[in-house]
Amino acid sequence: MIKGYQSELMDIYEKIREQEKEALETRRKEISKSCPKIMDIENTIAKLSLKLATTAMKNVPNATKELENIKNEIKNLRATKYELLVENGYYPEYLNIHYRCKHCKDTGYIVTEKCRCYNQKLVQIYYKNSEIEEATKFNNFNTFNIEYYSSSRVGDERYSPRRNMTGILDKITHEYIPNFNRTDDNILFYGNSGTGKTFLTHCIAKELLDAGYLVVYKTSDELIRNLKEIRFENNQNLEDLLVNCDLLIIDDLGAEQVTEFSVTELFTLLNKKILKKKKMIISTNLNLSDLTKTYAERITSRLFGNFTLFKVYGDDIRVKKNLSKNR
Ligand SMILES: [Zn+2]
Repeated sequence: MIKGYQSELMDIYEKIREQEKEALETRRKEISKSCPKIMDIENTIAKLSLKLATTAMKNVPNATKELENIKNEIKNLRATKYELLVENGYYPEYLNIHYRCKHCKDTGYIVTEKCRCYNQKLVQIYYKNSEIEEATKFNNFNTFNIEYYSSSRVGDERYSPRRNMTGILDKITHEYIPNFNRTDDNILFYGNSGTGKTFLTHCIAKELLDAGYLVVYKTSDELIRNLKEIRFENNQNLEDLLVNCDLLIIDDLGAEQVTEFSVTELFTLLNKKILKKKKMIISTNLNLSDLTKTYAERITSRLFGNFTLFKVYGDDIRVKKNLSKNR
């Protein structure tokens, strides 16, 4: 569970409940004016509900029969109330409290389990004005242009860059994303710079964020800075976020300054996440042999053993984009 945002989230739920209470009060006042008879029924129902509760608590003879009678009375009055509301041009639930989330009644919890709306709100708080939110406005599957990938084969690759990317997109959009909740697959995108790996991770982030998953996006540089903060300033909330988010995306692995510290901490993080079956996507401009040279064997063995590897290749898309702009 992600700590640190709990109180902020609980405030949000409380505010929602207050707003809905006020909105209901306004509707009640309106009905009092336009159709006082309905409010009379409302008040009678309230009194009967109270009576129902007290009768249930008291040990009176024939309680069952009496309870049954009160229940029926309430039921009939409710039916009359709904009829009257509709006759007067309102919808039947007009005088009921409205929940924005019916599952948890705007509390965030169903008994002790977190409601699905909880994570969505967490994502909203976490991504308020964040860079990834901005980036995914432009970089998403709707704006992904496969035309940037050549349909001619290059070098000794088996498939053309376009066919290769089509295959990757197919796997991601038809298998990985729809089954996100059911898999613990990690993904490693590797290949030359400018071949759309970052763009691809943004697309995936966007889809999963929209589906309410908590996706944390870090460049490898940022991640190492975060790991320092965790180690030296004991920032537990940050550690919790990195370890327990639904998906951690590490972009441009290998671009950071590789030191003994960074390698050790990175290994610890990868290991923790793999053990906890928390998913990761990593992108790197390094090829597999450079990865092996740059990082200790324990890291590369984690990467090669626990990640699905996708090689991304083709011309430099940034160059192509600029050329098409200047045409
Ligand atoms: Zn809910």
